[in-house]
Formats: sequence, structure tokens, C-alpha cells
Amino acid sequence: MTQIDPLHRVLVVEDEPAISESVSYALETEGMSVEVAYNAPEALSRVRRRPPSLVLLDVMLPGGSGLDVCREIRAFSDVPIIVLSARDAEADKVAGLELGADDYVTKPFSMRELIARVRSHIRRAARSGLMSETNEVLRGGPVEMDVDAHEVRVKGGVVPMRPKEFDLLETLMRRKDRLVTRETLLSEVWGSAYYGDTRTLDVHIRRLRHKIEQDYSNPQHLVTVRGLGYKFVDAP
Ligand code: CA
Repeated sequence: MTQIDPLHRVLVVEDEPAISESVSYALETEGMSVEVAYNAPEALSRVRRRPPSLVLLDVMLPGGSGLDVCREIRAFSDVPIIVLSARDAEADKVAGLELGADDYVTKPFSMRELIARVRSHIRRAARSGLMSETNEVLRGGPVEMDVDAHEVRVKGGVVPMRPKEFDLLETLMRRKDRLVTRETLLSEVWGSAYYGDTRTLDVHIRRLRHKIEQDYSNPQHLVTVRGLGYKFVDAP
């Protein structure tokens, strides 16, 4: 069996926890890393922020059809998309393929078959060179972030980051010197379920400041924009 590169990330777009959890578990067992989006807007913002290796896309979603998500992703990305359609929804399969999906799997599906298809589409995309094999590195102030290796260096030394800290820092660094609102950060890093719980965001910002700022009580790079959000600035 060919090993799938553990850095391959699959975005599972599915609002039913029973399905998203079992699929996530199965893919992680195969050595892939998995993110879950529970609705259409969240799916789009995740693909925009950080294109995954493959999108598993359910058709029936709250806040919009998976088919619309498919069309919108195709407007800016060639990421492989597998549509999960309801049983006997022939129209969905046809529409999905016409909108640019690469494949579809009908619910209820066999996990073994789903995984086989995921692997085959990821391999195919890698072969056709759609996926960049070089590591992307973001730089700002004292921070160097190797996005694919999931490694952050501050002044050259590796600093361990929890997954949400990494995602938050990445989101801010990708928009260097620009305000990123609290709403955007919450929805892109935690998903829309966290709207309202803004303490989570502040706690993570505080942890990041401890890790990247010379003096965390007087931040020079992770700057508060009062009442609105945060921004990452290169140099004070
Ligand atoms: Ca669904």
C-alpha cells in the first residue's frame, strides 16, 4: 500500500456530526490530517485561507448547498473535490460533476471505498503537479512560519505551537499590516460555532504574545486594534 504523505490535509464539509466524525477518524487513521467545516460559508473561508489537498463536500448543508460551494471553489481553486450526495439523488451527482467536482460518493457509503477514492484523487492531483511540493514560509517581524511543516521559529529558534495558536498566527500573518476583525478570526480559526465566545480569542492572542513578543505586555507585532480586532505588523 502506498503511504499518503501525512501532510495531506482533507477538508470535510458536513453538518452531521456522526458522519463528519466517523469520516475524520477514518482519514486520520490513514495518516491524513483533517479539518471539518459545518456549513457553506465556513467551507469557503477555509479553502480560501489555506487550500487543503482535497475537499469532501456534502450536498445538504445549512446556509447553502454544497453544489454552490463547489462552484465557488472552482472559481479560484483546482483542489480535488469529492461530492457526498444523498442516496438516489442522481441530479446532484450530475450537477456536482458539471460544476467541477472530480467525483461523487453516494450516502450511505462504505468507508473503505470513500478512503480509496480520497487517496486516488490526492495521488492524481500530486502527480499532475497541482499541489505545490515546496514548503511555503511566511515571514514577519521575528517570526518565520513554515506552513506545511507546521513549524514556527522566533528569532531562529523553534517555538512549539498548539494547533489553534498556529492557525491564528497564520491567519494574521497572511494579512500582514492589515486589521483582521474579531469576527473574521473567530470564524476562520474556530468556525462560526464560536461566534460570541470572544474570550477564547483573547486567551490565544495572549499565549501567542508570550511566544513571539520580546515584551508580551508591550506587543510590537501582535497589535490590538481597539474594539475591532488585531493585526500583525512587521516592524513597529
Ligand atoms: Ca448534511
